[in-house]
Amino acid sequence: MTHLFLIATALVVGVAMVSPAAADRTWTVQPGDTLSAVATRFAVTVRDTMERNRLTSDKLRVGQQLTIGPPTQTPQGRKRSERSSELPFDGPSYTVARGDTLSGIANKLGISLPDLQSWNPGLRLDHIRDGRRLRLGYPGRRVRYRVRRGDTLTAIARKYRVSPKQVCQWNRRLVPDRLQAGQVLTLYTKIPASESESVGTPNRGKLLHARPLKPHRAYRIRDRKRAWGTAEAVYHIRTAFDRVLARFPATPKVEVHDLSFQRGGPISHHRSHQSGRDADIAYFQKNCGRKGCAFRPVGIKNLDVKRQWALLEHWLRRDLVEAIFIDYQLQPALYRHAKKRGASSKQLKRWFQYPRGRGFPIGVVRHFPKHGDHMHVRFACHKSDKRCKTFRPFVTRQRHASR
Ligand SMILES: [Zn+2]
Repeated sequence: MTHLFLIATALVVGVAMVSPAAADRTWTVQPGDTLSAVATRFAVTVRDTMERNRLTSDKLRVGQQLTIGPPTQTPQGRKRSERSSELPFDGPSYTVARGDTLSGIANKLGISLPDLQSWNPGLRLDHIRDGRRLRLGYPGRRVRYRVRRGDTLTAIARKYRVSPKQVCQWNRRLVPDRLQAGQVLTLYTKIPASESESVGTPNRGKLLHARPLKPHRAYRIRDRKRAWGTAEAVYHIRTAFDRVLARFPATPKVEVHDLSFQRGGPISHHRSHQSGRDADIAYFQKNCGRKGCAFRPVGIKNLDVKRQWALLEHWLRRDLVEAIFIDYQLQPALYRHAKKRGASSKQLKRWFQYPRGRGFPIGVVRHFPKHGDHMHVRFACHKSDKRCKTFRPFVTRQRHASR
């Protein structure tokens, strides 16, 4: 019994001190990176990053190594229960010994009785069995779920792979058949914040737990077997097209060709498109007609600059993309339109390679041969995808095949 107790204590202490998120990470500055974009990507503050790296200004150099600290905590500081919520289901536990009482255990481990009870729903104060394993912490990630109209308890529970009973135990005031829109529920789930994972580089990578790109009023998918991506990539594609539709209700459909295979990996006609972050999309063109905008050589005369920019701007303003390959001859019109729409000179410098020449290595929107009939979007690695690698075309000089 004594050594079990010691193990349990050691686990509690260990978890409190080294949560996986607390480890320092490093980031190599990429063309187009800004300090605020990097900070946003890793959920840290600009100030903390500057201090940690002893930066005196927010200017970054391509190739510079940054040390990134643990994610910034909520302003009020995290409560004990929130920290515990990071514990996995099969994390620290305590095995009840003969003669133990719950309050005795709580005392010994230095935790509160209500905590112990909430981690172990259904636990009876007056009767605990010898040998029973008590969980020290919540089973999984803490989620605050806002109830929407039409939600049912069963559906919400299923979504997070927990039981309706557990949801009730975590939310004492919940009346099961009286869910109200707007009501906030607390849940603990083992499902990661983002299930999909982009692994490796786009040219040598794979994709786990992919999501299919679903049809949309503003695009047509050529081959759905080749239209899988990370959860973030497909989400960002759809929301960008939502935005175009919101601004221009009468918008023709554009053709979306390949993203990745469901499991990523090599895909014919491409060198990249292996890790769920790449997508080939036709340009919005004037006079696309009923059939929509196909892949066809687009010049400055037939590019639909307004719609094209509405689409790009959504990704650029949110720092969602690593690169967008667009033929150099199409960049001036987009650049001028962006400027007209209020982009600052700093943003223009970061977003566009133009007017610095088609070989210039900085600018998210940049030239790549064979992108006169479609653009190629490459989304940035999501912060939860630890094995995702940023592609560095200017270091490796690997060739990007167009489609
Ligand atoms: Zn491509």
